[in-house]
Amino acid sequence: MSIYSIAIDGPSGAGKSTLAKALAARLGFLYVDTGAIYRTVGLYVARQGGDCSKEEDVLPCLKTIDISMEYGEDGLQHMILNGEDVTADIRKNEVSRYASQVSPIPGVRAFLLDMQRAMARENSVIMDGRDIGTVVLPDADLKIFLTASVEERARRRHKELLEKGQEIPFETVKEEIAQRDYADTHRAAAPLKQAEDAVVADTSSLNLEESLELLQTIVKERLKL
Ligand code: C5P
Repeated sequence: MSIYSIAIDGPSGAGKSTLAKALAARLGFLYVDTGAIYRTVGLYVARQGGDCSKEEDVLPCLKTIDISMEYGEDGLQHMILNGEDVTADIRKNEVSRYASQVSPIPGVRAFLLDMQRAMARENSVIMDGRDIGTVVLPDADLKIFLTASVEERARRRHKELLEKGQEIPFETVKEEIAQRDYADTHRAAAPLKQAEDAVVADTSSLNLEESLELLQTIVKERLKL
């Protein structure tokens, strides 16, 4: 059986993880959420009392961190940090900030690169992140750049946080998303940008089902799956 890889990149809140997860289930591929790996690094540094934006605090933590991914019966990706399942902890709002702070550090990106590539060598994957089509899997069979307006992405993230019991004002969520967009697109190391050969999918005016249909059409056309 052939091994396929689909790269999905785009800004925070564009629906990457929800759509990639659903698409992976339909195709029987493994879904790899790379943001979760950066979140796990950020969580660890913060727990060690480090400042996630300081390279001198972050790099030493890489010596004692052990990150692995496990796939449960549900097919969902669990993040294991030094033996502890931190899948729920990494979704807290402050961890989004920690992830965004550790992610521009070249040493962190290099540390995580092999882990991500190994997943795609061994399995058919749908991998989502910021630099999958440009850096991690430049030879992916299909690259999708998934995006939506800041307003719409903030609305979705706000709702998701509320559902998890985190009450954060909409304007704050929107401001944080705009800041992360700026940081992710302007960093020197592997900035968020559309790969030249990526197909753009804008979900601003689409609901979940419509977005999924759009992605399925793209997959069918490009991969003949
Ligand atoms: O996708 P998610 O919001 O979970 O990612 C959290 C942060 O991790 C992003 O804001 C980005 O800074 C970083 N990230 C990255 N490269 C990836 C995935 C995530 O830099 N491939």
